[in-house]
Amino acid sequence: MVIKEVEVKDIMTKTNLPVSDYAVNPYVGCTHACKYCHASFMKRFTNHPEPWGEFVDIKSWPEINKPGKYVGKEAFFCSVTAGSILPMKA
Ligand code: SF4
Repeated sequence: MVIKEVEVKDIMTKTNLPVSDYAVNPYVGCTHACKYCHASFMKRFTNHPEPWGEFVDIKSWPEINKPGKYVGKEAFFCSVTAGSILPMKA
């Protein structure tokens, strides 16, 4: 199992998902390897040679720039892990 921290420029990703305006995924990877996984396609966006289920990249990101622009929007936390939808408030 490979678990490491990675720095990303932004944690808010605009999405075309019908349920939200933004997706927030604080990590990529998983410690499981479910046969029915809906998120295993994310491996192609990493440089990991390990198979899905054997790595986790924990993201760190800078302070969110102009957070007011997200007021009234919805964010889907963990759209490619276990997730939930949260409304953004001031
Ligand atoms: S992300 Fe969820 S479904 Fe996919 S392998 Fe991990 S626990 Fe299983």
